[in-house]
Amino acid sequence: MLFDAIELTLGKSPTFINRLYEGTMRNEIQCLKCRNKSYKVEKFMDLSLPVRSEFEKIYNSSLEMALFNLIKPERLEKDNQYFCEQCRAKVYIIMKMRLMQLNT
Ligand SMILES: [Zn+2]
Repeated sequence: MLFDAIELTLGKSPTFINRLYEGTMRNEIQCLKCRNKSYKVEKFMDLSLPVRSEFEKIYNSSLEMALFNLIKPERLEKDNQYFCEQCRAKVYIIMKMRLMQLNT
């Protein structure tokens, strides 16, 4: 049902979309070496949920699936190393995204 609502709002005025989508998310970044956690809180006006995208080859069967894929822990490696203040070095991290508040 929510997915239908989103499809319906596409192409409508930005204000309408903002009102639907505005919220806060928290990114938890954990260093895999020292286990130190840091948080980054971000506001978003428009939660871009790639439910389906030909270009990125994303084919989620539902909005729930898209949300699940969005918040699943992500392990950043190789080119995506993160500078840990505690280790004073570039480290591997796990990043978790949590939605704190959604104005729907
Ligand atoms: Zn560290």
